[in-house]
Amino acid sequence: MSKKSSVLLIYTGGTIGMMQDARTNELRPFDFKALTQQIPELNKFDIGLSSIAFKNPIDSSNMHPLVWVEIAKTIRDNYNKFDGFVILHGSDTMSFTASALSFMLENLSKPVVLTGSQLPIGIIRTDGKENLITAIEIAAAKEKGKPIVSEVCIYFEYKLYRGNRTFKYNSAHFDAFKSPNYHALAEAGVNIQYNKSALLKPNSKALKVHTTLDNNILVLKMFPGINERITSAMLDSHGIKAILLETFGAGNCTTQEWFTKEIKKAIDKGIIVLNITQCLEGRVVQGMYETSSHLKKLGVVGGADLTFESAITKLMFLLGQKLGNAQIKKLLQTNLRGELTTS
Ligand code: ASP
Repeated sequence: MSKKSSVLLIYTGGTIGMMQDARTNELRPFDFKALTQQIPELNKFDIGLSSIAFKNPIDSSNMHPLVWVEIAKTIRDNYNKFDGFVILHGSDTMSFTASALSFMLENLSKPVVLTGSQLPIGIIRTDGKENLITAIEIAAAKEKGKPIVSEVCIYFEYKLYRGNRTFKYNSAHFDAFKSPNYHALAEAGVNIQYNKSALLKPNSKALKVHTTLDNNILVLKMFPGINERITSAMLDSHGIKAILLETFGAGNCTTQEWFTKEIKKAIDKGIIVLNITQCLEGRVVQGMYETSSHLKKLGVVGGADLTFESAITKLMFLLGQKLGNAQIKKLLQTNLRGELTTS
């Protein structure tokens, strides 16, 4: 590293900064200052480290788009002062936050690394120390004076992933995240090995931060025996702007007449319908089976290999842009931030 790098640590909450209530045994967020006391190694880094702690640290199960806006604004307001950003976040919804931020931070040219832990930092066997120390190293890493990483990532248990390709798959193992449809961006062993061909190219345009998200979305998960009365009551709800359909296999679902009619009614009302698969690997190919051809004919958008986390946040982001439906449908199928494999 030529010049000393500077990293901003943004603490939003999560297990990494939690303590056990001696009386109830519940895990609750504690004051951020205690975190730096717990990791004295942080003071030994040859990196200019600053931190901002959110006033009310949360368990990430309470995450909300308003908090994503707060995080995005914090990055925007500090963008020129730091070389990289580390966001400390609970693991439960970390993939949602990483996906949302990837869309909100357009033309990113610096690393934004989310990390957390499965065990609180104060516990001897914590995974939090390694996760945090390496995340900071990645956020500070430069080559020829330029950041190596210039996208929103998750670092967890020796692997760096593109955030909008991940999901939390394990609540018991330290290795909590998977990125089934995209390679890891780096692996930390004795050295940090970057998978350079997998990284997004840095953007030379100015950072554009989007802070309007629209959550008027209904998620409809298919299951054998899906109930007509309940489904149509849900679809009749006022104000739905998009339906995220979670289908089987390569994007297939029931061909029962009532279901097709309900989807057609929604599309005729101007509601966007996006089809993603319940499978964790592979992609939606509408028209491959008869059980998805009807969706294609109706104008349902095929979500290819978008994760659920990416699909829902991409919808929130695009609906928030006040674009026409044709444009939203086109952008849903366009690879905006590395979230989608287009062929
Ligand atoms: N419930 C916690 C959270 O997501 C779990 C974690 O931090 O790993 O905030």
